[in-house]
Amino acid sequence: MQPRNPCGTSTSLDPQRASEENPQYQRINEAWRFRRTQRERHALLNALRFAGLAPAVEHRFRTCGQDAYVYHSPSTDQYRIRSLQCGQRWCPACQHKRRSEFARWCLAAFDRDDRHPLKFITLTLRSCKLPLAEQINRLKRAFRKLRARALWRKAVSGGVAVVEVTWNAETGAWHPHIHILARADYIPQHNLARTWLSVTLSSRIVDIRAVRDRCDAIKYLGKYLGKAPLAQLADQPQALAEYITALRGARLVIRFGDMTKVEVDADITDDPHDWQPIGSLAAIILAARDGSTEALKLLNRLDRQIPWDADSLCPDQDYAPP
Ligand SMILES: [Zn+2]
Repeated sequence: MQPRNPCGTSTSLDPQRASEENPQYQRINEAWRFRRTQRERHALLNALRFAGLAPAVEHRFRTCGQDAYVYHSPSTDQYRIRSLQCGQRWCPACQHKRRSEFARWCLAAFDRDDRHPLKFITLTLRSCKLPLAEQINRLKRAFRKLRARALWRKAVSGGVAVVEVTWNAETGAWHPHIHILARADYIPQHNLARTWLSVTLSSRIVDIRAVRDRCDAIKYLGKYLGKAPLAQLADQPQALAEYITALRGARLVIRFGDMTKVEVDADITDDPHDWQPIGSLAAIILAARDGSTEALKLLNRLDRQIPWDADSLCPDQDYAPP
């Protein structure tokens, strides 16, 4: 049965963009979209003036979450919110979808029935004062050289790598590193460290461990995708601006070896095809404020679910490092 409109009015079922010019709705949409990341949003807005990005990019970020409309799928009894999304990799609100799509791709690519052993590998560079963009390029060049070395070619058939950047507030230095999920036979850690030193000429810090549960490993890898050091950089707008510009256009996911040939079904999201509009999110929030228990119940449900969340892919597993 079609759920009753929790706004209690017929006007909220009017065209979905009807609320976009309403300043009150805009404030409500923004507060909802960034309800757990307002501090990060303000830090990013503060940093964007140093980043030299096109005004359209900033506008997209400022309007991320606007025109929010709630939909219901009768066949699955799921709810979802559709709204404008900036899609920026540093946007804390857009990260869930990006990570989840990555995790879904990995789950399909690393077939669950594949008995080939997996390894989780982390490679780091020695900290230095070079601009972040140059450090990321150096890291990726070193990883490419590593993949050409005999030690790697003999043991590793393919995999996926994610670049992560952290910031050390004490030293004011960037720490880019690569996390890799690889189909690989046993590699002695000291051999990998020695080979990594020979390609970086400065760093021998590596970590390699066998993966016991590939679902956990994929979730763990996805955690690093677009994980911006926003908390550490909240009071450092210029460093945050450097992060934003360094990552703009940079390829942060690297498929290599036999994983470059893997094709996965484009329709792997299991997205229901019967979404029906319920009402604008802002109208539902206002109805809840006015005491509608139905609207409040719906908001609680929407708040609990993170659409496309990777954790829902493997509901029987606890989230833990491999
Ligand atoms: Zn966004």
